[in-house]
Amino acid sequence: MAAEPAADAGRDFIRDIIQADLDAKRHTTVVTRFPPEPNGYLHIGHAKSICLNFGVAQEFGGRCHLRFDDTNPAKEEQEFIDAIKRDVNWLGFDWGEHLYHASDYFERLYEWAGHLIRNGKAYVDDTPVEEMRAMRGTLTEPGRNSPYRDRPVAENLDLFQRMRAGEFPNGARVLRAKIDMSAGNMNLRDPVLYRILHAAHPRTGTAWCIYPTYDFAHGQSDAIEGITHSLCTLEFEDHRPLYDWLIENLPVPSRPRQYEFARLNIEYTVLSKRFLTDLVQKGHVKGWDDPRMPTLAGMRRRGVPAAAIREFVRRVGMARANSLVELAMFEHPVREHLNKTAARRMAVLRPLKVIIDNYPEGKVEEVELQNNPEDPAAGTRKVPFGREIYVEREDFMEDPPKKFFRLAPGREVRLRGAYYVTCREVVKNNAGEVILLRCTYDPATRGGGSPDGRKVQGTLHWVSAADSVEAEIRLYDTLFTRPDPGAATGGDFFADLNPASLEVLGGCRVEPALASARVGETVQFERQGYFCADPDSSPGRPVFNRTIGLRDSWAKAQAAPNVQAGGKSPPGPKKARP
Ligand code: ATP
Ligand code: MG
Repeated sequence: MAAEPAADAGRDFIRDIIQADLDAKRHTTVVTRFPPEPNGYLHIGHAKSICLNFGVAQEFGGRCHLRFDDTNPAKEEQEFIDAIKRDVNWLGFDWGEHLYHASDYFERLYEWAGHLIRNGKAYVDDTPVEEMRAMRGTLTEPGRNSPYRDRPVAENLDLFQRMRAGEFPNGARVLRAKIDMSAGNMNLRDPVLYRILHAAHPRTGTAWCIYPTYDFAHGQSDAIEGITHSLCTLEFEDHRPLYDWLIENLPVPSRPRQYEFARLNIEYTVLSKRFLTDLVQKGHVKGWDDPRMPTLAGMRRRGVPAAAIREFVRRVGMARANSLVELAMFEHPVREHLNKTAARRMAVLRPLKVIIDNYPEGKVEEVELQNNPEDPAAGTRKVPFGREIYVEREDFMEDPPKKFFRLAPGREVRLRGAYYVTCREVVKNNAGEVILLRCTYDPATRGGGSPDGRKVQGTLHWVSAADSVEAEIRLYDTLFTRPDPGAATGGDFFADLNPASLEVLGGCRVEPALASARVGETVQFERQGYFCADPDSSPGRPVFNRTIGLRDSWAKAQAAPNVQAGGKSPPGPKKARP
């Protein structure tokens, strides 16, 4: 499976082809393009294509164009165009002056359609859509010729010109290439080149009411821009003969070649724009940038660093066969990256109050803590400590099992960077729920060590009751309950949606430094995971998204192949840290 990092992830069959072309002097400069259709936001699958196209251009000293494949105004919107540009930039790539649109070439494409007609290689077909579909044949049966196939050139030119002039309603006629209705490859059975669509276009307004199909626009746009290597996903393999046919039969200024690579598929994830559009429109998520979405905008909001996405794509590598990549393989570089860059902070997600009875009332001490043990240059910060604090509810058990090393009646634990405390009394409400722990502290253990050398097995995070800040914390789980959504339901992805993909926690308490967290900043909440400040934050009331939990199941699975990968982050560390 392709999830294994390639031995030399910098090298792959695409790069080999490019190198060979340069060596043989078939090209002197490499020119690639990333050609999104602006009918949705970019997702992690697109990131693979972006990293490949912009990546090879960089490596071979060439250039990569950003080209909007804007040939279907019925579905395309300016919002998507803006979002795509933002996301490509965020991912770390720059098209410089090379921003193009298929719509830039509408006039030239129209002329070229005329060229085909004059050469007897295209015709206007009046056959109704359904009938045309039925006449196309099947994989085992040839198609049938349209009765309009042998229309004289002059009549075709006249009708095509009148299609452009707006004389006919949507769907009344199409322009088709005249290739071969019995071709084994269905794409060569007189494919449609132009259709009538009375719809305003974000860029060309109402100038056009006929629009070229993807097949007619794509290769010709490549040729106009001098693209040398047109890299796309495997589903276009069957379109390549048509791509080549058009290039051969048109007076194009250059001869690009198309190469196909495997689509990226990830467990628990659906990467289909059509389905993602449905999720947004039907309100299953809060928008294209919902942190559960596999979109680049969603991942950014969730706190996934762009560098981690690039690294993930590099490790997946380029294969010629489609495969399903393990989710853990995506999570690994995210944790790796955040571990190095994210500041450590303390946050209590489900607070339980602790009163330290022998600590002086009204006294506040500042405890100094490292910002990032992985990066001494990140320095330290001061966190206020007092008589009343909050700890995590799940860090206390009244009747703990053997391996529970946190708070329990009579048990002594370390409060991170502060003191050792011992639980003396458990206070409950009428319903029998624990609402308060009364503890004592040992003043000699300031900083978290004991002069007499006695050990405690648990180290808990905490925040001061008086000086912490209230926060909302949003916990995310996978959007689907199955690694292969739709597989058991004949493609009904909705049936596999995870009803628990979002859990919102209110009344969380975070250390004071987090009150002013910058939107988009990702920090590590000690013992919990990585969290990113959300744009919904307001002054004094931050909102955080859990980017990812702490446990790295991938690294563990790598180390011990028998250990099952996956699963959720455990609430605490495996062993106490000083
Ligand atoms: P849909 O999701 O409906 O199939 P699309 O994602 O292919 O649409 P485009 O905007 O045409 O939409 O994609 C732009 C480019 O990104 C194409 O060259 C396409 O091959 C590539 N791409 C799309 N999805 C993936 C994927 N999962 N893995 C790799 N490349 C992809
Ligand atoms: Mg596509």
